[in-house]
This record gives sequence, structure tokens and C-alpha cells, in this order.
Amino acid sequence: MTAGPATIGVDIGGTNIRAAIVSPEGELGARLRFPTAAQRGPKAVVDDLAGRLRKMIAAHGGPIGAVGAGCPGPLSTPQGIVFETPNLPGWDRFPLRDELAARLGLPVVIHNDANAAAWGEFTHGAARGADTVIMYTLGTGVGGGLVIDRKLRIGPDTTAGELGHTVLVPHGRPCGCGSRGCLEAYASATAVASRAREAIAHGRESSLQSLPPQEITSHHVDHAADAGDRLAQEILQEAGFFLGLAAASLVNALNPDLIVYGGGMVNARPWLFPVIEKTIHEYAFKAPAARVRIAAASLGDDAGIVGAAALALAP
Ligand SMILES: [Zn+2]
Repeated sequence: MTAGPATIGVDIGGTNIRAAIVSPEGELGARLRFPTAAQRGPKAVVDDLAGRLRKMIAAHGGPIGAVGAGCPGPLSTPQGIVFETPNLPGWDRFPLRDELAARLGLPVVIHNDANAAAWGEFTHGAARGADTVIMYTLGTGVGGGLVIDRKLRIGPDTTAGELGHTVLVPHGRPCGCGSRGCLEAYASATAVASRAREAIAHGRESSLQSLPPQEITSHHVDHAADAGDRLAQEILQEAGFFLGLAAASLVNALNPDLIVYGGGMVNARPWLFPVIEKTIHEYAFKAPAARVRIAAASLGDDAGIVGAAALALAP
């Protein structure tokens, strides 16, 4: 990493906004975390964010080079526009980059949040030193990011790395994107919880029956699997199979060094990782399957902030 001024990384979510001043070495200084005033619309959210960032910058005292913001998409990095985002009502073609830059008097870049997280893990986390990295973020949805030959692949439409929408099953389960059979419909935390509810509704025996169906989350499924629940184990292993199947195609396509898995569901890795590895070896070519390593993300919730901050001054 070349030395330079500190930057600010921002992670805009539907529930919370988090931000930090980040050194060129990836160390986090002052931090912010506050609820997103999503119902008040994009301008109010940006006013609130800019006001808090100005205070943080004033308290910091030193120079700040730029601001990088990760945001759920679809969005355009080159145009600086958020097209729409399900958890942020009213963000329709909202010029986030220019609105924030005008309020701060600093250069701003915006990136898809999963791309920012992938860049964070690549520059300062589990994927440091690798050349070509695939990252999956397993949360409410399945986010993705691709670092190819040490460059983040964004694409002219900022849709590169939408790995959650790898279609695996023709005419399969409906996905939030409007398509069917996507990885996200089988391996997100939401999908894992839905599959548990469906199986129980169809009469499968499980310790999860003690919970009201609507309260079952992927964490419950994970804990039940650890405690020996057969249904929970099968559901996680099936999610692992679909993750492995999706990864196998990318292993053949990109010959990566590393696949990194982050997000809340990565806690279930004792159930997921062995199946992912087995499936990659079954379905991918021998040489790239033997090369690729699998790892859990190491920056946790900070990956998006660290990545966005590192991208703020990227050429
Ligand atoms: Zn989809």
C-alpha cells in the first residue's frame, strides 16, 4: 500500500450507517454508527451523515483525502448514482456521490457494498497477498465481489460480482431479483431459515419445532445442527452444496487463489466449508480445484468500511 492521507470509509445499510477514519495501512481511527433515517428519504439521510462526518473530521484535525461509501445496489460507480435499493425507500436514481461531496467539500466515490467488502478483505483482511479472489457475503442475501489479477472487477454497469444471482437451478426457487433458481434463493441466511420452516410445515421432525415458525433464523438452524439436529444439518449441507456448485464454475472460469466467505452465515462454516470443498473437487477441473483455498473473512463487519476507504483514493 502506498502511504497517503487518511480516508473515510462509510457503510450505508438499511438499518444502520457506519463510518470510520481509516489510515493508509487500513487501521480504523474514530468511528460512527447511527440508525439510518431511511423513512425520511435520501436527502435527509445524506444531511444527517454529512453533519456527523464533518464533526468527526473536525475532531480528527489531520487531512482527509477522500470518502468512499459502500451502499446496497443496484448503483453505478462511474455515475455516482444509486438506482434503487429495497431497504432505502425513495433512493431512485439518487446522485449519492455528488450530494455527499457537495456537503463535505471532499471527493467521494460510491461502490456496491459487497464489492467494498471484497476489496477490504483483499487489501487488509483474509485475502491479503492473493492475486485473484472470489468473495461471497452470506447474509440476508448473497453478496459477491471479484478481485481479478489484483483489481476489483466492477464492470461498466457496476454489476460485476453479483455472485448471489448465479443461476443454478432451472425454474428453481424464486429469488428477490425477480429471477429463479439463483444461489441466493438456496444459500442466504433467509433461504436457510425458509427451508427449515418449509420442512417443518411438511412434517419433518426437528428440534426447531419448539420455536414459532416465523422466529426461526439461520442462527437457530446453525445451533440446532451443532446440537445434532438432522434436519438442520441437511439444510446447511444443502446450502454448502449450492455454494460449492456456484464456486466450482467460477474456479473453472477464473482459476482463483482464494474464495473468502463472510457475513453472518459464515458462523456455520463447520457445516458449510467441508461440503463446499468436496463439491468444488467433484465439479471443477483438477488443477484449479487443487489450487484454490477457502477461508472465512477476517474483518467482520468492518470489511465494507475498510474497503470503501481504500477505494476512496483508488485511481
Ligand atoms: Zn437472483
